[in-house]
Amino acid sequence: MAEKSGGNLRHGFATRAIHEGWDPADGEGALVPPVHMTSTFAFSSVEDGMAIFAREKPGYRYARSGSPTIALLEGRIASLEGAEAAVAFASGMGAITAFTWAVCQAGERVLIDQTLYGSTFAFFNEGLAKFGVEVVHVEMSDPANVAAAMTPNTRLVYFETPANPNMRLIDIAAVAEIVHKAAPDCLVAVDNTYCTPYLQRPLDLGADAALHSVTKYLGGHGDLMAGAVAGSQELMDKVRFNGLSKFTGAVLSGLNAHLVMRGLKTLELRMERHCSSALHLARIIEAHPAVERIYYPGLESSPYHALAKRQMRAFGGMIAFELKGGFDAGVRFMDAVELISLAVSLGDAETLVQHPASMTHRTYSPEQRAKYGIADGLVRLSIGLETPEDLVADVTQALDAAAR
Ligand SMILES: *Cc1c(COP(=O)(O)O)cnc(C)c1O
Repeated sequence: MAEKSGGNLRHGFATRAIHEGWDPADGEGALVPPVHMTSTFAFSSVEDGMAIFAREKPGYRYARSGSPTIALLEGRIASLEGAEAAVAFASGMGAITAFTWAVCQAGERVLIDQTLYGSTFAFFNEGLAKFGVEVVHVEMSDPANVAAAMTPNTRLVYFETPANPNMRLIDIAAVAEIVHKAAPDCLVAVDNTYCTPYLQRPLDLGADAALHSVTKYLGGHGDLMAGAVAGSQELMDKVRFNGLSKFTGAVLSGLNAHLVMRGLKTLELRMERHCSSALHLARIIEAHPAVERIYYPGLESSPYHALAKRQMRAFGGMIAFELKGGFDAGVRFMDAVELISLAVSLGDAETLVQHPASMTHRTYSPEQRAKYGIADGLVRLSIGLETPEDLVADVTQALDAAAR
């Protein structure tokens, strides 16, 4: 059961990431909370079990609908997002699917941005549309397109900002205002994976839900998979007791919840370093003669720079770019890196490079990629926590190699 914390806003972000919801006195003095590895919970009487199942009394019943370790993590994520509640999942896709199935039904309409993480794009188009939900692709970086696409039966507006992989930004406050005015029951959901609540808080800007692949920055160490959704208590109850418990069963394990909480303790420190190294590298990449175009909202040349300054604390650790010579030059770059690993995923301590068109965004057809701005030559970098000079050296030698 999510212990609703609502966020103790008296404390700063890092303090809440470390302490929220735990008093060592409640755990025989244990500084680090114990990990509850149990699938079921014993009731003191039939009456007690009945009341817990009826949700008339707080308490745990079966780990698919909650456990103390998961609840602690959920309270921390809710606090960091400034939400009443959160629900944790076994993966980001577990969170996205459970959330969507909990809120949408046949006959309703969903607007999705044109640029989404590849599996999210596939879920909406293949996993949701076939159940009679109308899925409409909208280019949301212009909020006027959202206004034009709204109908009274639109139930959900879903997007990422910055979008994976092409770093387009969407004005959360503008879209939320348009949507809620056009259809008061329509939910605005933002995949906040790229930013984490340290950089951007969608609920503060008017969104109804913030979703995460916790696998990425929140876990932060590339050693687990997890997901989360944060929002109002009422919405999260629906997501937990329908989406998670009945529809997907994508339950996070207690051990992984513990590892995520270990990662969260350094989230602020890590994000500061990801952001400063990425900005430094983006400037170097932008100035290199091999580079055709770079997408990083921290650069003054980015069309999204002003919006990024408004809605993000800093500009994030993700960079995308295209080289002169397109796809072939991109392949030369990726084959030339030495310190950097050629791997999908992001938000790890290790710097990673990947090729969206053939890897994470293969779920788009070539025509969709061309139309939605995912160039065949696009290279995506997740800037890690290594010594910045070492990253500069590796990126520079690989850019030089790509130009040859
Ligand atoms: C990775 C990712 C997901 C999917 O999360 P998993 O944990 O891999 O299931 C969703 N959205 C974004 C933006 C991602 O990067």
